[in-house]
Amino acid sequence: MSNEVLRPGAVPEEESFEERLRPRRLGEFIGQERLVSNLDVFMTAARDRGEPLDHALLFGPPGLGKTTLARIIATEMEAQIHTTSGPVLEKPGDLAGIVTNLQPGDVLFIDEIHRLSAAVEEILYPAMEDFELDLLIGQGPAARSVRIGLPRFTLVGATTRTGLLTAPLRDRFGIVQRLEFYPATELEQIVKRSATILGLPVAEDAAQEIARRSRGTPRISNRLLRRVRDFAHHLGSESVTLEAARYGLEQLEVDRYGLDSLDRRLLTTIIEIYGGGPVGLKALAASLGEDRGTLEDINEPYLLQIGFLRRTPRGRAATARAFRHLGLSQEGESSKLFGDEE
Ligand code: ADP
Repeated sequence: MSNEVLRPGAVPEEESFEERLRPRRLGEFIGQERLVSNLDVFMTAARDRGEPLDHALLFGPPGLGKTTLARIIATEMEAQIHTTSGPVLEKPGDLAGIVTNLQPGDVLFIDEIHRLSAAVEEILYPAMEDFELDLLIGQGPAARSVRIGLPRFTLVGATTRTGLLTAPLRDRFGIVQRLEFYPATELEQIVKRSATILGLPVAEDAAQEIARRSRGTPRISNRLLRRVRDFAHHLGSESVTLEAARYGLEQLEVDRYGLDSLDRRLLTTIIEIYGGGPVGLKALAASLGEDRGTLEDINEPYLLQIGFLRRTPRGRAATARAFRHLGLSQEGESSKLFGDEE
């Protein structure tokens, strides 16, 4: 079982809560300095030329602000945003229905763009490149192709990894920007900002504690703040104190580093079954009974970032830090015989 409070993906019940906390302008967006300053340069230049922004691809783990940035781009460019996602656009007609309704300069945001079908991708290429749509009308021998001109628009695509995109799609984005996990100092600012919006007094050390355990992810910071507020209330406190934060985080079984139970199982498996590694991701996914994509998109990037996992040519290995954190000894790697499997 994994610890739901630490899953970085979006959940429908939190939609309106997240909406309230979303920064609206680029200036309100905390962290990701290089990306923010690059976007600022590109948007200012496009605005000064009186053109829409180039198509932009945002990539990085869930919960780091890709949707937020897509909306900010629309706001800053004074454009309307139309939101959809790869899996929703099943047929070319689904995409055609959206793009033919765009106004000049509009932003089309496609989340999980790596999940577009080949047929939809095919009609997206000329739409992105030449602002034209080639549609097949009718069926069988009577079918004919018609070309429709589209207004110039900006496509903003979001994905967890650029490697998931086909090369021709990736090449059609003029702007490609990566979002990184946030350091605790920035998450602390995000917690404080969110607390202010919620009208919730939070002690400095409590904000720090929540930030440290948020897995580098603003979505998790906001969620932990919300949960901890309930624990503070339970303790009879109107504000979030360090005591309330610690108590709440303990009740929620949030680890000191924000590791969830799958992170812990992953490390324990590398250590106990594969003698600390290296082990290939495929074998690891099979041992854990988990989807390889989840390990690759969610668990691995964070464990690499905090130095608990190492990438080697022969697979992933646990670091001394990981052994220490789990209270396991690096001596007597008894299962070494499985270690060279891949
Ligand atoms: P993604 O699309 O990458 O999964 P979102 O853009 O939906 O992530 O962000 C998740 C939540 O985290 C949103 O509610 C947003 O308010 C918050 N958030 C993300 N990035 C930031 C940031 N840089 N500053 C403040 N809040 C942020």
